[in-house]
Amino acid sequence: MQQQFIPSLMGIEEEQSSDPPPSTLRVEEPPSAPVQEQVTKSKALLQWNDWRWQIRNRIRTLQDLSSYVPGLSNSENLHAVIAKYPMAITPYYASLIRRIDFSDPVFRMSVPNPQEMCDPPCLSEDPLEEHEDMPVPGLIHRYRDRALVIATTTCSMYCRHCTRKRIAGTRESSISPRRLAQVVEYLRATPEISDVIISGGDPLTMSDAMIESVLSAIRSVPSVQIIRIGTRVPVVLPMRITDELVQMLRKYHPLWINTHFNHPNELTPESAAACTKLADAGIPLGNQSVLLRGVNDQPQIIEQLCRGLVRIRVRPYYLYQCDLVRGVEHFRTSVRAGIEIMEYLRGRVSGLAIPTFVVDAPHGGGKIPVLPNYVVSMSPTHTVLRNYEGLLVNYPEPGVETAADEFTEQIGTPGVWELSSGRASVILPAKTQRGQRREKLRPKRNVGSTAFLFDA
Ligand code: SF4
Repeated sequence: MQQQFIPSLMGIEEEQSSDPPPSTLRVEEPPSAPVQEQVTKSKALLQWNDWRWQIRNRIRTLQDLSSYVPGLSNSENLHAVIAKYPMAITPYYASLIRRIDFSDPVFRMSVPNPQEMCDPPCLSEDPLEEHEDMPVPGLIHRYRDRALVIATTTCSMYCRHCTRKRIAGTRESSISPRRLAQVVEYLRATPEISDVIISGGDPLTMSDAMIESVLSAIRSVPSVQIIRIGTRVPVVLPMRITDELVQMLRKYHPLWINTHFNHPNELTPESAAACTKLADAGIPLGNQSVLLRGVNDQPQIIEQLCRGLVRIRVRPYYLYQCDLVRGVEHFRTSVRAGIEIMEYLRGRVSGLAIPTFVVDAPHGGGKIPVLPNYVVSMSPTHTVLRNYEGLLVNYPEPGVETAADEFTEQIGTPGVWELSSGRASVILPAKTQRGQRREKLRPKRNVGSTAFLFDA
């Protein structure tokens, strides 16, 4: 069902509900509009590009939502969902919706779903047990050298798959000076912490002054070397990345930012411009995606996303398996789906564009990287490895002096044992693109007595 979603955005304005849509909405302009109309449009565009206007005009209630999704507002279930897990969608993010149903990735990540109320017993409010690792309120100390500060409970958009659904948006507030002082005191008393992540909620929804007070307080701790900010603002509120904000941020280097793109539809000229501003200020950008059923659980979608991220100078950092958090069961995929995506990416895209697939372990176990199995066998002399094409090759351990060629006379049908014992060095899949390229380059090439072809 393809519907025109964008024009109805204007229905949620607090101010000029009669304003025509801003030009960012890509509405065709009449060729000879009167001057007054142009002025009105310019004002609308200014509003649209004002991040505070975007926050003031978030879709927050079922009434707001009903102007886009007829029928949903009458759902009793939806009232309960929003009462439990607040809703907020910036007009900008809403403008990225292409279909008004849960098959649209942006719609699915932003619009409340009655399925959020279905919780199997394996889910919990705080599956990572962050509260158990909080020595002072608002600071999570899990890994030895890192700490995470929850600077705010506010986000511009409340992602339906959020791992901190228990706090995000339940009360929109930011860290108090007293709490911040406690955090700093703990950091000073714990010098092994050298890397502090400012998170939330979304810290970049705070005012510049507030962000700076948090940054300067943390930077005042001599043992803190790196500060990182976790934010979804470049994705859901890119106009928040103002020149003033960037000028302020660059005073606190080394500063890194991790953002949270999940789908190629989130890669827009606006989000690219926001990332460019940050990158130009010398802030390295990483991306933490979450693997979400019905959003990005297809290898081709992740490939497109990762290629797009690298193009806008954002390094794909993590691909998270969905946490066992209440309210997200309908987003969960199998771990196997993630492994298949990683198998697909390797060899197809540059390593620069391949994130690490991780399961954030329940009970606060931390991130566990999960990979397809590339180590096939190990012997005292050789490790047998598999590449993305299915090629099997041995890697001789140090001190192995026997060359594979010495054994070649004895080999019948090769297998992994021939590789791990050093009797063969490689088993090649036949007819790979790479093999065909090589054959063209070296037509008379002898694959060698230690190489065996098999049909992949
Ligand atoms: S922006 Fe981050 S903290 Fe906020 S709702 Fe989305 S995932 Fe959760």
